[in-house]
Amino acid sequence: MVTTVQPRQRVSLKDAKSFSAFTNLVKTQERQKEVRQRLTAQLQTTLDVEKLLTIFYKEVQQVVQVGGIVYQMKDSDQLTVNLGQQHTHRCTYQLSSETEAMGEITLSRSKRFIEEELTILEGLFSTLYFPLRNSLAYRSAIMAARKDPLTNTWNRAAMDETLDREVELSKRHNQPMSVLMLDIDHFKAVNDRYGHSAGDLILQETAKIINRASRQTDLLFRYGGEEFLLVLNKTDHNGAQIIAERIRQGLERHAMKCGESNIAVTTSIGVASCRSTDTTETLVGRADKALYQAKISGRNQTRSGE
Ligand code: GH3
Ligand code: MG
Ligand code: MG
Repeated sequence: MVTTVQPRQRVSLKDAKSFSAFTNLVKTQERQKEVRQRLTAQLQTTLDVEKLLTIFYKEVQQVVQVGGIVYQMKDSDQLTVNLGQQHTHRCTYQLSSETEAMGEITLSRSKRFIEEELTILEGLFSTLYFPLRNSLAYRSAIMAARKDPLTNTWNRAAMDETLDREVELSKRHNQPMSVLMLDIDHFKAVNDRYGHSAGDLILQETAKIINRASRQTDLLFRYGGEEFLLVLNKTDHNGAQIIAERIRQGLERHAMKCGESNIAVTTSIGVASCRSTDTTETLVGRADKALYQAKISGRNQTRSGE
């Protein structure tokens, strides 16, 4: 059977518009499907949250123009990933599994997002869900292995991995970098008098106070029992001494509340700053010597190892 389709005599502007809208829609849907397929495959190739979001960001651009993405996970380490540039028009999605929060993702651009685009984005988020959940679980397992469970500071293993790199970076970029070696004074006596669990509380509180007094980019390690090492990036000796004093005074003034008791503890601190000839050992060695000087000079003081 042969059928002949009669061409319409006149095609109105309205028809032409809706026809082009229709073909655009079909094209968008096809592209969307391709993007979803690619995303599903590519998001399985990494467990790194930043890499995951970079793949997502790149692919999303194929169907919805996005100027920038910010991902924030408010866990103990405040993971933040920034991609592209942030603009005024934003849409934010809270991601969560049945049991836990998986962070918040904000997409932005200079033009308002329209309803259809939001629907497309929501569809694409479903491809991100399981890979992101796996990456976050992997990340927290890795973190747990590098953290001291009592104080939630970085442990010795993390320090060994990090410190050599920090010293090398400081020397290569000719940027100042300092370390503080802190040791709680007469801590054995505190344990003996108030008990081990009061001692544990004091260690936790001490770490919090040191963290509060330093910048987010500084790195705090539990060096030993009641000893901490604070790495201050982009900080010269003068700046490091000021921070050391701020921490020492902060700890001195802070009465630690353990049950019924308010326990006063003090800390001795040694400061050292990276030289072009330094290795991790020589730098930490100078901070350690300065700490020893602070101890033999009467404790509760800061000493400089230059
Ligand atoms: P100094 O002023 O010379 O530093 O004296 P100190 O008593 O602080 O130093 P010492 O090295 O003699 O004792 C350190 C104490 O720290 C002994 C140990 O019981 C205690 N300590 C180490 N790790 C922990 C811990 O995880 N929890 C508790 N509660 N105490 C700890
Ligand atoms: Mg000690
Ligand atoms: Mg001590």
